[in-house]
Amino acid sequence: MTTAADETTVLPSVPPTGGPAHGSAPGLAQIEARDITAWFGDRKVLDRVSLTMPAGGITALIGPSGCGKSTFLRILNRMHELVPSAQLAGEVLLDGEDIYDPAKRLIDARRAIGMVFQKPNPFPAMSIRENVLAGLKLTGTKASRSTREHLVESCLGKAGLWAEVKDRLDAPGGGLSGGQQQRLCIARSLAIKPRVLLMDEPCSALDPTSTRVIEETMKELAHEVTIVIVTHNMQQAARVSDTCAFFLASQGTPGVIVEHGDTGAMFQSPQDPRTSDYVHGRFG
Ligand code: ADP
Ligand code: MG
Repeated sequence: MTTAADETTVLPSVPPTGGPAHGSAPGLAQIEARDITAWFGDRKVLDRVSLTMPAGGITALIGPSGCGKSTFLRILNRMHELVPSAQLAGEVLLDGEDIYDPAKRLIDARRAIGMVFQKPNPFPAMSIRENVLAGLKLTGTKASRSTREHLVESCLGKAGLWAEVKDRLDAPGGGLSGGQQQRLCIARSLAIKPRVLLMDEPCSALDPTSTRVIEETMKELAHEVTIVIVTHNMQQAARVSDTCAFFLASQGTPGVIVEHGDTGAMFQSPQDPRTSDYVHGRFG
C-alpha cells in the first residue's frame, strides 16, 4: 500500500524541461502490458498479465482486494520500482514503445502517464491555482503568465471544477470538499499533459454526488486521454468503462486476469463463472 506521503513525493517527477506547457496534443495513446509478472521480495503477486488498454477508451480493472490491481496500475507508470523489494518482468508499451527500455527516461514515462490516487492529495496550503500548476512550478518549467492562467482555466475546466472555483483561485486547495479536491488532483495531473491517466479507486472516498461528477469528468476526458481506472464499484465500472479486466488471485496464488473484454459483454454474458460470480456480487 502507498501512503499519501509517498504519493505526494511522486508528484514532482515531471521533467524540468520538455517543451512548452501548451504544445499541440500528441494524439491518443494505447497502453499495452505484455506478460507482466511482479514480485515483492520473493512473493509473486502478478503472473504473466497481458492487457491492451485502447487509445481514447476507459478501461476498468476490477477484482477482489489483494489481487494485484494497484500493483498492475503502478507498473503502468513505473511507480512499482519505488518499492525497494519490488521486481518486475514483462513489457509496458506506450504506443508500441516499451517504457522500461533502458534507453528511455523514467521521467518521460511519469510525464506521459499520470496518476490519481484513492485519497485526494492536493497540497493543502497551496492555492487552487498553485496546485494546478504544481507540476510545472516544482520542476522549474518556464511558462508565461498568460500561458499559466490559460492552463489553470483549461485544466480546471476539463476536470469539471472551473465553475465552482473560478472566483477563489487563491484560496487554499485544502479548503475544498473531498470531491472538489479529487477534481483538483485531476486538474493537476492534466496540467502536465499526460497521454494516459491512471486512477486507483478515485471515488472510493467520495459521496455519491461527487462520484457522479468525477464519472462525468472521466467520460469527457476520454476524448483526449486514455483512462485506466481501478474500481470496486461494479456499477461504476459498468457506467464509465468501455473495456474491463477482471483480476483474481485465488488462495495465495499470484494475480491473473481471468477475463477481459467489452464491458457490456463482461457484465451481461461473462464467459467465466468466476467473473459472473464477481460481477453479480457473490464474492469479493
Ligand atoms: P489490490 O489493489 O488488488 O487490492 P495490491 O496490488 O495492492 O492489490 O496488492 C497485491 C498483493 O501485493 C497483495 O498481496 C499485497 O499485500 C501485496 N503488496 C502490495 N504492496 C506491497 C508492498 N509495498 N510490499 C509488499 N507487498 C505488497
Ligand atoms: Mg488497490
